[in-house]
Amino acid sequence: MLKLKNVSKFYYNKGVIASGFTKVSAQFDTSEFVVITGESGSGKSTLLNVISGLDSYEEGEMYINGEETSHYGESDFEEYRKKYVSNIFQNFNLVNSYTVYQNVELVLLMNGYKKKDIKNKILNLIDKVGLINYKNTKVSKLSGGQKQRVAIARALAKETPIIVCDEPTANLDSKSSREIIKILKEISKDKLLIMVTHDYPSVENVATRVIKMHDGKIVSDKKNNDVDTDRRVEIVDNSNKEIGLFNMIRLGVRNTFNIASKFILLFIVFLFITASLLTEYGALRKSEYESSKLGYNWYFNDTTDTRIVIKKNDGSSISREDFNNINKVSNIERIVEHDILLDEYVWFETDYEKVSEGIFINGLIRDISTFSGKLDYGRMPEADDEVIILVNTYEYYFTERLEDAIKYTYYLNGDKGSIAIKIVGVKYIEEELFFGNDNVIYGDNSLLDKYMTIINKQNSTVKININGNNYDSYNVSGDYFNIAVSDKVSKGNAIISEDINYTCKNFNCKNQNMTINVNNINYVDSLGFKISNTYNDKNVKNLLGINKDNVNYGSIFINKEDYDNLFNKDSYQASVFATKVDFVSDLALELEELGYHTLEMRKTFSNEGMDATKLLKIVKLVVTVILIVTLFFISYFVIKLILKSRNVYFSTLRILGATASHTKRILDIELFINSSLAYITYILFVLLIKNDIINISFIKSVVEYLNIIDYLLMYVILIMMSYLISSRFSSQIFKKSAMKSYREEV
Ligand code: ADP
Ligand code: MG
Repeated sequence: MLKLKNVSKFYYNKGVIASGFTKVSAQFDTSEFVVITGESGSGKSTLLNVISGLDSYEEGEMYINGEETSHYGESDFEEYRKKYVSNIFQNFNLVNSYTVYQNVELVLLMNGYKKKDIKNKILNLIDKVGLINYKNTKVSKLSGGQKQRVAIARALAKETPIIVCDEPTANLDSKSSREIIKILKEISKDKLLIMVTHDYPSVENVATRVIKMHDGKIVSDKKNNDVDTDRRVEIVDNSNKEIGLFNMIRLGVRNTFNIASKFILLFIVFLFITASLLTEYGALRKSEYESSKLGYNWYFNDTTDTRIVIKKNDGSSISREDFNNINKVSNIERIVEHDILLDEYVWFETDYEKVSEGIFINGLIRDISTFSGKLDYGRMPEADDEVIILVNTYEYYFTERLEDAIKYTYYLNGDKGSIAIKIVGVKYIEEELFFGNDNVIYGDNSLLDKYMTIINKQNSTVKININGNNYDSYNVSGDYFNIAVSDKVSKGNAIISEDINYTCKNFNCKNQNMTINVNNINYVDSLGFKISNTYNDKNVKNLLGINKDNVNYGSIFINKEDYDNLFNKDSYQASVFATKVDFVSDLALELEELGYHTLEMRKTFSNEGMDATKLLKIVKLVVTVILIVTLFFISYFVIKLILKSRNVYFSTLRILGATASHTKRILDIELFINSSLAYITYILFVLLIKNDIINISFIKSVVEYLNIIDYLLMYVILIMMSYLISSRFSSQIFKKSAMKSYREEV
């Protein structure tokens, strides 16, 4: 069955050639119990390793069933070992953390057997070596003799025609030795058994043949004729069977948990990696978010990043029905119908006649319903003209002299004829709300409506035509003329200042016709009036109910309804706020499909002066990548140290006939399970923090910026890292030949 012809084995060690054995020729057959003896260093082990296919040879030829093997590569020998050879070692080479049963099972699982098919076979084998009472005992708890029996049971399980034993009794007491030899004799009946021993006398009466080695050469080779050798066996062909995925998962799970200390150490390392990854990534997200808030532009004061400005594609106004349809779109937090107000920077000032220092409050104007939080001073508004303000703590009048400041009435642009407000509540903020905007004035709807018409008027060019004469210069936003509302004027009529009489026939405009033309970016409109009267200092109180001191002599008074028809139009531009920044792009797309022109606020930010921010962003990204790579190497070395004790395990697997890729796969699965458990644990921890059950503000402030996609991404990165660690570790073990890595461990 096995034939060696002038085979030599050399070792090359740092340029020095040592000889393992030289020009060995021998032939071995089934049912032989061959004993090899000789002093230490005579080449016995080397010969056994070459016969087992664990080591290569350099000279001569070894035949297996007549087939030459000098051209064999590593995978051919793997195949050969799997099909032909079982090894029994002086050091047992068992998996100490496995039970007796699992050790025998391992070799069968590695060779592709199904778990349920092999149970009886394993129990029979364990019984055969007399360990049935220990089947569920961990191997580490057994005596040397018992361990060697497990090794024999395992060798038998593989059902190979050749069993090779290298000093199997050297570590055993004489009683155990005798028992082991008895078992070996029993199994040698239908196998080729080759055994190296120092203790020839103890095997003298069971060996069928004795080979003596000296200095790397066979010096004698004698048949022991007292023992008959007349049986034949078939070779079980298990060469095509490979370990299946299911068995690999089974072993991966078993290896994850079978050594508690190793499991916990790995778990802690993966927990550390997960925590670092998520914290670092969260911090990156946070700084990204914050720098996005730093953006600004010249057109919009409300730069909330969830804001989308919309206009209808055809330029028409947005109707009630349109708003109802927009409302049906998901992920909308709120809709602001007249969104021009969002961007208006308003100025309210005290009456200079009463307050010589002129106290003012300026900032954005908002609907009181959007106010959130608690007032630091005062109460919520109760009347139409009452407001609360959100002011920065560095506003002198509203911090140091609040008692004074809230006594006064404030007028829009300090103009007593315009909107008047009273401040009844104050809330302080530390930071700017938007770029350059510190304060907010919260009023009710009627205040916002009043302000809206003023803006509409301000943003329009108004021309007046009296009796066919155009007066372009009557631009109402100029400082001369102004269109004002009075309930003393009936619909279709207008009361104008006496000063304008010079423009009319006979210097009297009364009862003449006037048209007001309004033109702005959204619409062009005109309305006809009859000038019902003119006013002056004397009659103004009577006609319009206004004190002469409070009247603006450029004013043209018309009815509220006419005024609204000219200036209080439907909304032409509105803003939609998404519930989350992440939804903005999709929401904008949906609105586009509904027929709106959209502008995402975050896309309007100017890049001017933002190069530094961009650079900072790149630097932060690079730092994150470096951190992840560093993390990878640190964890690789730690995990390598933890797994080092497992090298024996991996070389055992290989000696049992596992291929490199299968062994790696089993490690992949183990690390996958461990890292996933660590990840899940950390996520649970984050959930506890998010729900304020555990209070770690640093982690809380960072994880806030992560969404489900980020979590999945980090999980994928973690799994990839554990996969890379497994690959690196495996390739380091498998760079060495099976025997070399085995020898290094023992
Ligand atoms: P035995 O098992 O009979 O005690 P070995 O087969 O272990 O002897 O060793 C035979 C010879 O090969 C010895 O001279 C030993 O020094 C040498 N040898 C064994 N293994 C190696 C090795 N890995 N590298 C170099 N020389 C080795
Ligand atoms: Mg030896």
